[in-house]
Amino acid sequence: SDIGSQKERVVTEEEWLQKWEMGNIGFHKEQGHPLLQKYLDVLLNGRSGLRIFFPLCGKAVEMKWLADMGHSVVGVEVSEQAVKEFFSEHSLPYCEEPVPEISGAKMFQSTSGDISLYCCSIYDLSSSIVGKFDGVWDRGALVAVNPCDRQRYASLMINLVEKNSSYLLVTVSYDPNKHKGPPFYVPESEIQSLFG
Ligand code: SAH
Repeated sequence: SDIGSQKERVVTEEEWLQKWEMGNIGFHKEQGHPLLQKYLDVLLNGRSGLRIFFPLCGKAVEMKWLADMGHSVVGVEVSEQAVKEFFSEHSLPYCEEPVPEISGAKMFQSTSGDISLYCCSIYDLSSSIVGKFDGVWDRGALVAVNPCDRQRYASLMINLVEKNSSYLLVTVSYDPNKHKGPPFYVPESEIQSLFG
């Protein structure tokens, strides 16, 4: 499959911040993603009280949903506006603190402690800062990463998960010559080589 026209494309952090400012966030799903409901059992695999990671989280409502089920949710999002909208739209009180290991980064945590959102680039994170996760919900994340950063992203994600973790990945299938992305088209063969 030819992804030639997308390979060189770069969306900067500034452009993402602008999308949030302009309300140009067609990716956000008010109702939550049906595929998480469908594959929830695969993610949980009979376990409770999991640590679940949301890379490039936006203000995904599924974070509230999983926290309400007793899991502990960690997200990372470059837009502070998105993070604040998440807490305010769910009427969740939160506190805000700097992250000593990452200059300029802030961590927003629900007062109940079960949702922690890092406001920084995902590439600033490491398992020594956020620990390791039992589950990952990757929707609008791998497909939003710039094609040139995919390898780095996948290596980081592999580093952030425990041995017995479950990783749900949502991709989109379409002709990459007809749309510039994001979401980018990530062929199955590339997913295989990134994640094995
Ligand atoms: N996963 C969310 C949002 C998808 S859109 C959902 O399902 O709704 C991708 C999000 O990633 C945007 O909110 C954008 O601001 C954020 N983002 C882009 N690059 C990032 C980076 N390097 N680190 C953290 N967040 C990033």
